[in-house]
Amino acid sequence: MLKGTTVSRGVAIGKAYLLDRSRVCVLKKKIQPEDVEKEIKRFQEAIDQSKRQMQEIKDKAGKVADKYAIILDTYMLLLDDDILVSETIENIRNEQVNAEWSLTLVLNKFNTLFENMNDEYLKGKQDDLDLVVHRILRNLLGHDQETLADIVEPVVVVSHSLSPSDTLTMSKNHVLGMATEVGGKTSHIGIFSSALGIPAVVGIKDLTLKINTGDQVIIDAIEGEVIVNPDKDLLKTYLKKQKNYQNYENKLLEEIDLTAETLDGSPIHLAANIEMEHEIKSLRKFGARGVGLFRTEFLYLTSSSLPTESSLFKTFKKVLEGVDPHPVVIRTLDIGGDKLLKNSGHDREDNPALGLRGIRMSLHNPKFFIIQLRAILRASLFGKTKILYPMVSNVDEIIQANELLEQVKKELQENQIPFDDEIEIGAMIETPAAAISVKHILEVVDFISVGTNDLTQYVMAVDRTNENVAHLYQPFHPAVLKILKEILLAAEQSGKPVTICGELGGDPMATMLLLGLGKLDELSMDPHSIPKVKKIIRNIHLDQAREFADQVLNMSSVKEINQFIAEEMRVRFPSDFDRDQTFEEKPGKTC
Ligand code: PEP
Ligand code: MG
Repeated sequence: MLKGTTVSRGVAIGKAYLLDRSRVCVLKKKIQPEDVEKEIKRFQEAIDQSKRQMQEIKDKAGKVADKYAIILDTYMLLLDDDILVSETIENIRNEQVNAEWSLTLVLNKFNTLFENMNDEYLKGKQDDLDLVVHRILRNLLGHDQETLADIVEPVVVVSHSLSPSDTLTMSKNHVLGMATEVGGKTSHIGIFSSALGIPAVVGIKDLTLKINTGDQVIIDAIEGEVIVNPDKDLLKTYLKKQKNYQNYENKLLEEIDLTAETLDGSPIHLAANIEMEHEIKSLRKFGARGVGLFRTEFLYLTSSSLPTESSLFKTFKKVLEGVDPHPVVIRTLDIGGDKLLKNSGHDREDNPALGLRGIRMSLHNPKFFIIQLRAILRASLFGKTKILYPMVSNVDEIIQANELLEQVKKELQENQIPFDDEIEIGAMIETPAAAISVKHILEVVDFISVGTNDLTQYVMAVDRTNENVAHLYQPFHPAVLKILKEILLAAEQSGKPVTICGELGGDPMATMLLLGLGKLDELSMDPHSIPKVKKIIRNIHLDQAREFADQVLNMSSVKEINQFIAEEMRVRFPSDFDRDQTFEEKPGKTC
C-alpha cells in the first residue's frame, strides 16, 4: 500500500496507465568555444518549439475552459522568463557545456530556492517550472512529447506529474482516477481532479517505480492510499467501498437546493471561498449562496506583472455578475509574509507571519490598495459587493483604510464614475488583538469575518505551515474556542453580522460546535464542503448545539475535546461520520 495526500475524494479501481513523465537523462557534455553560439541557437530553437506546442495546447484549452488557458499562460510566461532563459545561455557561455546541462543547473538552483519556502501555493509553482523545463529538455533531446490522447479504455493514470496539456488531451470519460508523485491541493492536478470529481491522490514517493502499465490499481482517495494488484477479497472490499461512497455523495447533492436552517428554523447563510474567477461555476453545483471570501492575492501571485485596475475590474465584474443576486465579499490584498510580489520593494523579513502583511502592507504601500479599491468600487454596480480588510490588529488601521476608501470614492465621483456608495465594509478577525478588541472594531465596520486559520496560528503561537509543529495547530483548543465564543457574543450584542471563513467553517466535524458557540450568520468555505455542512445544520436543534458547546467549553484537554466531538458526531450522524471515515462495510450494517 502506497501513502499520499488526497486532493479529490472518491475511490477509483482500474488498470494503470503509466505516463512516463520521469526525469529525462541529462549528461554533461563539454563544447568547443567555437560551438557556443550554435549551442545557444539550438537552445533558443527548443524554447520556440516549446512555445509553439504550448500555444497549440492553449488554443485547444480556451475551447474547453478558460481556467486551463489561464494555467497555460503561466507556463508560457515561464518560457519568456528572463532568468530561466538568460541564465541557461550564460551557463552555456561561461561553462562551455551543452544546453541540456546548462538548463538543468538553472532548474536545480530554483528547486533549492523552492525547498526553502514554506508556502504551499508557491511550492505548486515548482511543479509548473519542472514541467516546462522537462518539455524544453525533451525538445532538445528530440524526444516525443508523450500524450494521454491515445487512451481508448478506462484507466487509472499514474505519473510523476500531470500538466494541463496532459489533462486537456486525455479523454475525461476514460480517466477513472489519478495518482502522482508530486503535487498538492493548489497544484494543477488538485484543481483539475476536484473540478471534475475524479478521485486523485498526490505526493506518493517512488510511485512510478512501483506500478507498471496494466497493473490493477485501487486509488483510495478517502484514506489517501494506492493499492497495487489487490487480491480478490481486497478488490471486493474496495468495490463495495466505492459504491458506498458514490451513493453517499449523490445523496448529499440531492439536497443542494434546500435551505440551510436548523430544525428549529434558524437560518445560516452558506457561502463559498474562492481564489479565482472560474471557481464560481462550482457555487451552483454545491448550492453556495454567494461568495463569502474572495482571496484576491491569487490574482497577483499567478500573474508575472501586477494586475492593472482594468484587469481587476474585469475579474470582479465577472464574478459579481456570475454570483448575482447573491453577494460577493472581496478581501483586499492579503500579501506579504512569504507571499511576496516582485518589484514591491518588500524586504525579506525574519518573521514574515508577524510582518508586513494584509492591511499593514496595503497601508504601508497604498498604491496597490488604491488601485484595488477603485476596481472594486467600479465593479460594485454589477452585483452586491462587500469589502473585507485582512490581518487587522487595531481600529486605527480600519479608520485609515476607510479614509483611503473615501478618497477613492471622491475621485470617482469627481470623474462621474458610478459605484455603489452604500458598499459595506468588514474586518477579518484573525489576530488575537482584533479578537480581544472586537467590540471596538464592530463600531467602525458593517460586518466581521473570523479567519480561524490565522486566529488559531496566532493564538496557539504555531506556524500554520510548519509541519514540525502541525500537531500543536489545534483549532479545538479551549483558548481558541473561548475566543470564538467572545467574538460571536460581541457581534450579537452589536447587531452586526458575523461570518466564519477559515477552514474550521467548512469542517463538518465543527459545524454543531460553531452553531452552539453563539449567534452565527454565515459560514464560508470550499464549495465542496457545503452539502455536508448543510446536512448537519438541517438536522440539529440550536439548543442542543448550545448544550453541546457548553460541555466542550468546560473541558480543558484538547485530546478530550477531540474525542468528545468525534464520538458525539458519530452517534448523532452515524451515516456521515462513522461511514465517512472508511466507507467500509461494518458487520450487520448496510449503507
Ligand atoms: C483565515 O486566516 O482563516 C483566512 C480565511 O484567511 P487565509 O487562510 O487566506 O489567511
Ligand atoms: Mg488569514
